[in-house]
Amino acid sequence: MIERFALNARLTIQRFPMNSLFAGLGVSVFEVMSRLARERDAVNLGQGFPDDPGPADVRAKAAEAVIDGWNQYPPMLGLPELRAAVAAHYKRFQGLELDPEREVMVTSGATEAIAGALMALIEPGDEVVLFQPMYDAYLPLVRRAGGVAKFVTLKPPRWTFDAADLAAAFSDRTRVVLFNNPLNPTGVVYGRQSLEILARACVKYDVIALCDEVWEHVVFDGLDHQPLMAMAGMRERTVKIGSAGKIFSLTGWKVGFVMAAPEILRILAKAHQFITFTTPPNLQSAVAYGLGKDDSYFAAMRQGFQRSRDRFAAGLRERGFSVLPSAGTYFLNVDLAPLGCDDDVAFCRELVERHGVAAIPVSAFYAETPIRTVARFCFAKRDTTLDAALMRLQGVASEARV
Ligand code: GLN
Repeated sequence: MIERFALNARLTIQRFPMNSLFAGLGVSVFEVMSRLARERDAVNLGQGFPDDPGPADVRAKAAEAVIDGWNQYPPMLGLPELRAAVAAHYKRFQGLELDPEREVMVTSGATEAIAGALMALIEPGDEVVLFQPMYDAYLPLVRRAGGVAKFVTLKPPRWTFDAADLAAAFSDRTRVVLFNNPLNPTGVVYGRQSLEILARACVKYDVIALCDEVWEHVVFDGLDHQPLMAMAGMRERTVKIGSAGKIFSLTGWKVGFVMAAPEILRILAKAHQFITFTTPPNLQSAVAYGLGKDDSYFAAMRQGFQRSRDRFAAGLRERGFSVLPSAGTYFLNVDLAPLGCDDDVAFCRELVERHGVAAIPVSAFYAETPIRTVARFCFAKRDTTLDAALMRLQGVASEARV
């Protein structure tokens, strides 16, 4: 559970009264696990970032832009060339018609876009529907913005939701639903049927959908990402968020984009102008170039990750682990229940401390009634990294079972 990672923070003595929500939070599970991995010299399959350094031509463009380009403030909404490239990209891949001048804004990563949108869209006391397991930043940001969280709880192995689940969470007080598709940490890619159910609830309760679609290109098995924005009734009420970090395996760049109808985007820009104001211009121009790369780049990226997923999943199965399906993201999950384990935090701690492999306990992504029987592994790694992890995982499943 998120709170379990907050314990160390609560123990520190505070001289000044500070915001209780942030003062009470722990260090993010990704940071905790990466630190443990460094200390233990473990193979880090916890925090989700690829071994791949990202496309050389995109990085070269950024380097050129640092040396020869503009290094002062770019326009607040983003470089015009990047906003045009974003609109063209989503027309090409998702059939969306976006006005680059009035419907696209560049942010310093998707997390800024989410934080800014929550600050801009809700008033204290407004309800926000969240799907758990959820990315760990969502809940603190919702609460700090004054939102009251209502949860739709997803369960393994399929992590699906139906109209009744939504009916139980939505109400006349709901202002925003925060929806992540493909979903980190589960690796589920929600298709038309689920999206239509969600769209109907948004229209019925007159809700804005904040869609974190950063994994839209990281989908496998021939699946196509479908944006919620394209569903009936959603064009005017959807804030779509994308990320160059995930599209180009450049997670440290923190270049995100936000797309919404002009009426909404205008207000989101008010938050952005006072949070980061702008995003490094050199990275923006490199991303503008990258978004125009031909289809083969995107296809090869998916194939590469899919191959890694399959290699790692097969290795885990051979070692007696029960692997849950993953149709997107950098992650696959292991079901710990067949091993007789019902404490994913203890499992992951033991895994990193005794066996030298870092993973993420999925209970960290729940606010209430957590599932404690799933561990998340990042497979977006070189074969040598995955094989090193598999070697260390030899015998772990059989040992856990006894
Ligand atoms: N998105 C990354 C993950 O899910 C983590 C990013 C971070 O460390 N904040 O692993």
